[in-house]
Amino acid sequence: MAIAATEPAATSARPFGPAAALSCRECGERYDLGPKFACEFCFGPLEVAYDHGAVTREQIEAGPLNIWRYAPLLPVPADVDELPNMKPGLTPLVRADRLAAELGLRSLHVKDDSGNPTHSFKDRVVAIAVEAARTFGFRTLSCSSTGNLAGAVGAAAARAGFESCVFIPAGLEEGKVVMAAVYGGKVVALDGNYDDVNRFCSELIGDPAGEDWGFVNVNLRPYYGEGSKTLAYEIAEQLGWRLPEQIVVPIASGSQLTKIDKGFQELIRLGLVEDRPYKVFGAQATGCSPVARAFEQGHDVIQPVKPDTIAKSLAIGNPADGPYVLDVCRRTGGAVAHVSDAEVVDSIKLLARTEGIFAETAGGVTTGVLRRLLAEGVLDPQAETVVLNTGDGLKTLNAVDSGVTATIRPSLAAFKEAGLL
Ligand SMILES: *Cc1c(COP(=O)(O)O)cnc(C)c1O
Ligand SMILES: [Zn+2]
Repeated sequence: MAIAATEPAATSARPFGPAAALSCRECGERYDLGPKFACEFCFGPLEVAYDHGAVTREQIEAGPLNIWRYAPLLPVPADVDELPNMKPGLTPLVRADRLAAELGLRSLHVKDDSGNPTHSFKDRVVAIAVEAARTFGFRTLSCSSTGNLAGAVGAAAARAGFESCVFIPAGLEEGKVVMAAVYGGKVVALDGNYDDVNRFCSELIGDPAGEDWGFVNVNLRPYYGEGSKTLAYEIAEQLGWRLPEQIVVPIASGSQLTKIDKGFQELIRLGLVEDRPYKVFGAQATGCSPVARAFEQGHDVIQPVKPDTIAKSLAIGNPADGPYVLDVCRRTGGAVAHVSDAEVVDSIKLLARTEGIFAETAGGVTTGVLRRLLAEGVLDPQAETVVLNTGDGLKTLNAVDSGVTATIRPSLAAFKEAGLL
């Protein structure tokens, strides 16, 4: 008997579920759902627009224990959980009383996304992009990556039966390179920084060599971005269908931060949570802080920088969604701030020591900004606060110089002599 064809096929009559169109963020022009990412009139970025029916808490709560419980709010088919995909999400919202006490906060939770299938939040965004790639008939998945995205794409391609070829800047952390390569796809390191890699990928898409490829964060970016909304949905559901009053989010391209806000707004509009004010705070490393600088200076335009920081997953010098991040943080009464690499390391250790959570450098950035903005009186210590950890410390081991307390002979006498008791 013939083995089933490997051609991945969408099974649903409505492959994009409740999604109705792509719309331009700048001029509002609408387009059919397709592998398009920029407006033909104004070159503005496109995003997914919806035509939601009624969605209830009960319907969501009865769904799968992963991001597909929110399928009625995402551009995916209703039966998406039955398709071969990574099923990320529903990561713990950890009540962080010990860290809160140390920082003088009344109520703090850590949304710990390190436990996703490839150990970063990127599995969420890739999961949506893969379903779009399946529908559009792409056979190869690709991306420009600061590290975590490459691993998420490699794994998702393997699971769903796509070829993959991902592009990273040379000199990434070993854990991220291994994680990207082990799934058998091609991993190409480019001599340059992320912004060079991104430029290269834009060129490749315009060339016949790359036109049949699904670049999850370029020509599939409108779909990709929607995956970050699931962080907002989960946080609200895990708080008992309530929005937090303050949330601290890392910024690389800025997509995640803007989509968390989009997710909160949708929950309010659909009546799934009470409409109450929340403030969104963005976090960057000082060595790559173009959005924080624009915020401080009151500018609307982001001045690109050359990144120089250990927080490589956030090292995008020319963040595509930077201006929209400024809009969200200003509109909600939040802020954008930055911390030095030394503070990042310190904050990784603080989070590990107080809560048993080992964050990658991006989690050091958010925890560091949380601490700094509390100290500066910008964050309210009385407000219910959530801080994101978006990746696993095992991928950025070299950032922390932790090691054994002592090496001794295996004898009780030696242990007592070592003065550790
Ligand atoms: C990619 C990434 C982010 C943020 O990405 P955006 O481009 O801003 O959406 C945050 N944390 C980690 C660990 C990442 O890999
Ligand atoms: Zn437009």
